[in-house]
Amino acid sequence: MSSSKVIRVYSVERVPSGGMGAGNRTRRCATDNCDLTTREGKAHCPEHVEHLPYVQRVLRDLALMEDELERVRLFGWKEVDVNGQRCREILMHLSTHGARTEERLLREVFGSSCDLSIVSSYADALHMKRMVILGQTTRGSTVVSLA
Ligand SMILES: [Zn+2]
Repeated sequence: MSSSKVIRVYSVERVPSGGMGAGNRTRRCATDNCDLTTREGKAHCPEHVEHLPYVQRVLRDLALMEDELERVRLFGWKEVDVNGQRCREILMHLSTHGARTEERLLREVFGSSCDLSIVSSYADALHMKRMVILGQTTRGSTVVSLA
């Protein structure tokens, strides 16, 4: 008589929690111009869920910087927020690349839509707070360097 072991294999199949109505949880991303579906009933697709707070912060910073530029354009260096994003960028740029003429700061930090008098206002404001030193090239350009 041969003894044979009987091995029972229990297979447990999970019933999908969505059941038959899986389609009713499909939702489209709430971000403009995004047609992706979202997961778990969230308002945004996985990509936009991650990026949304970041994007909002960047847009807010940009709006603040644009406001500041406009005020500086109209009213001069007194409108410069020396603790603001734009000044942080200027100081960061100077610490990374060394002394810069205002013309180069205009090109490298402000972009072509600005004019030199705005850069001068920022340089003056930072100079008043002793955060930068101003010098001159032989051609008469103002050189900005970290204090
Ligand atoms: Zn999306």
